[in-house]
Amino acid sequence: MSAGSSAEKITLFGVAVDNLTLPETLDRIEQLIRSGGVHQHVVLNVDKIVRMERDAALRAAVLECDLINADGQPVVWVSRLFGQPLKERVTGIDLFEQLMERCAARGLRPYLLGAREAVVARAVAVLQARYPRLRLAGWRSGYWAEGEEVAVVEHIRQARPDLLCVAMGSPRQELFLHRWKQQLELPFLMGVGGSFDVVAGVVRRAPLWMQRAGLEWLFRLAQEPRRLWRRYLVDDMAFFRLVWREWRRR
Ligand code: UDP
Repeated sequence: MSAGSSAEKITLFGVAVDNLTLPETLDRIEQLIRSGGVHQHVVLNVDKIVRMERDAALRAAVLECDLINADGQPVVWVSRLFGQPLKERVTGIDLFEQLMERCAARGLRPYLLGAREAVVARAVAVLQARYPRLRLAGWRSGYWAEGEEVAVVEHIRQARPDLLCVAMGSPRQELFLHRWKQQLELPFLMGVGGSFDVVAGVVRRAPLWMQRAGLEWLFRLAQEPRRLWRRYLVDDMAFFRLVWREWRRR
C-alpha cells in the first residue's frame, strides 16, 4: 500500500485501473522495463470503455495489460461517484512526453511507430531537439501494405528497443500490440494515440484551463466537428448508460 493508504487498483467497468499519479507511473514503467519480461500499458478513457462493451478483442487486449492508467476527467469523476477516487487522470500525451524525458535521462531506447511518415519524422526531430540525450532504437510510420506487418514487427524486434510507443489510434494500436507482443519480445509496449501529431505540431492541444476543467473533448470537437460530433454523442450516451448500470449494480 502506498503512503496515504489510497487503493492501488480501482475496478471500473470490470477493469482494474492502477491508481497512480504521472510521476508514480513513470517509476513503475522504469521498474517494468528493468524487470524484463513483456508488459503492455493502456490508458482507459470514455471511448475505450464504450468500445470494449461491443468489441471482445479490444476487451481482451485491455484486460491483459499490466499497467492501466485512467485518462479523461469523466473517468475520474465516475471513480469518485463510486466512492473509490482515482488520484488523478494520466493522459496519454503527458505520459508520452514525460516518458521521453525519462528515457533521455536514463539511457533507455524507445522505438516510435505510427502516424504518417512526415509526421513521425517531425516528431522525432522535435523530441531530439527537446531532449538532446534521447537515443531512439528506431522509428517508422504507421502505414503499411497488407502482408508487410510481419516484416515491420521483425524490424522492430531486431532494433532491440527498451520500449515501443505505437501511435496508430485506438483500437488499432491496442490490437496490434496484443497480436504481436510475444513475437516482439520487448519489456514495455504502449499505445500513445495521436501523440506524434501533437508533438509534431500537426494537432493542437486544448489550453490548460480547458484540460483542467475536463473540457479537452470540447476543444477537439471544435477542431474536427464533422469527424467527431457523432462519436462524442454516441459515446457519451453509451457511457451514461454504462455508468447508470454500474451504479445500480453497486
Ligand atoms: N494512424 C496510423 N496508421 C493507421 C491509421 C492511423 O499510424 O493505419 C495514425 C494517424 O496518422 C494518427 C494517429 O494514428 O497519427 C491517430 O489517428 P486517428 O486520429 O485516426 O485516431 P483516432 O483519433 O481515431 O483514435
